[in-house]
Amino acid sequence: MSRVLIIGCGGVARVAITKCCQNSDVFTEICIASRTKEKCDALKEELSGKTKTVITTAKVDADHKEELVKLIKEYQPKAVLNVALPYQDLTIMDACLECKVDYIDTANYEPEDIEEPKWREIYDKRCKELGFSAYFDYSWQWAYQEKYKEAGITALLGTGFDPGVTSVFTAYALKHYFDEIETIDILDCNGGDHGYPFATNFNPEINLREVSAPGSYWEDGRWVEVAPMSIKREYDFPEVGRKDMYLLHHEEIESLAKNIPGVKRIRFFMTFGQSYLTHMKCLENVGMLGTSPVMYEGREIVPIQFLKALLPDPASLGPRTVGKTNIGCIFTGKKDGKEKKIYIYNVCDHQECFKEVGSQAISYTTGVPAMIGTALVVLGKWKEPGVFTVEEFDPDPYMDMLNKYGLPWVVDENPRLVDSDV
Ligand code: NDP
Repeated sequence: MSRVLIIGCGGVARVAITKCCQNSDVFTEICIASRTKEKCDALKEELSGKTKTVITTAKVDADHKEELVKLIKEYQPKAVLNVALPYQDLTIMDACLECKVDYIDTANYEPEDIEEPKWREIYDKRCKELGFSAYFDYSWQWAYQEKYKEAGITALLGTGFDPGVTSVFTAYALKHYFDEIETIDILDCNGGDHGYPFATNFNPEINLREVSAPGSYWEDGRWVEVAPMSIKREYDFPEVGRKDMYLLHHEEIESLAKNIPGVKRIRFFMTFGQSYLTHMKCLENVGMLGTSPVMYEGREIVPIQFLKALLPDPASLGPRTVGKTNIGCIFTGKKDGKEKKIYIYNVCDHQECFKEVGSQAISYTTGVPAMIGTALVVLGKWKEPGVFTVEEFDPDPYMDMLNKYGLPWVVDENPRLVDSDV
């Protein structure tokens, strides 16, 4: 029924593509296009004979709009799913706009070089005005709102797990459990063990940037920013157990603060083990997380990119990672005048994911929602002209598809709150 162009062929793409192939009634044809075409060909080879979806591959450098426009015009897809890197969000959005094709992604824009003066000027102004200093924010992509509306096309931003499913959980809680949501705590727990002293579960550059940034949360209509890793809590996660977790800035806080009326506080916590934190601090202290080029023996190298070359490829963690993830949201608020709290979460087993699609749970929990968001757009269920985040649409069909495609969820109507001891 639909032809979809998928850009990127890394860890998340592998899962999204495999899931599209499991849903071949919707995804009748897909083209996998990335910088390294050999990876696309290898995945096509692996999937051929196991799906009715017709797969083609192409080489594209998504940093160049012209290359993207040429490919989109040749392939004529109904939508483009961007599972490359956040650096490519704007060029891909521009190409979709020029070709009048719907756009879907899993992470909001940030630039590759954060020292670039034009970007830096806008960034510094935003830090002062809004009060959070993460390198990513929605303003760059929300700026396409009128252009996408006029063109009659949809951009669906952030359909991974967090952001993505966490925002759908919020829309679902508001639709079915609350008259008003007062607080949202998003808890991202990875209880998996890959056996390495240090490795990242998804793209190391994006992951390390996120984790080394100051933390921030939304309270009473404004951002509160705190030093990196300075707010710590312990939580006993269903099916995983007790873990330390730390408050981080995260992109869905920004869109939920805008779209959930009356919300008083939104926080995001992620679990980290001590070994990860010690390694990260040390790498940061010696400058290995730097994103600007330095001269080394007559050539420029970017420290974090060199570090990426040394670290285990996230895709290689699949076979060796054991344990489970638990990601979800705790909501408090009111229903029929009474106080209410619920916890909606998903538990995902690393080894089960590996058996099914050859990836660990972090890629799995992002790739499945990427497929679901794309399916809802191409099916016309989530189709409106303009730029949207996932909580702005009806959550019910998405929640049904989570159950069907491997991410079943649980609603606990009496959870322990993050700041309470019981
Ligand atoms: P990977 O590094 O594994 O894969 C990225 C892919 O993008 C690679 O195939 C890479 O090609 C390709 N790529 C990079 N630059 C270009 C370019 N200029 N043109 C074409 N292709 C390019 O990343 P992940 O799969 O881990 O992450 C993918 C996305 O998912 C990221 O945006 C990440 O932020 C997001 N994410 C979202 C989460 C969520 O819950 N919302 C959670 C985890 C990730 P090559 O093979 O040549 O390097």
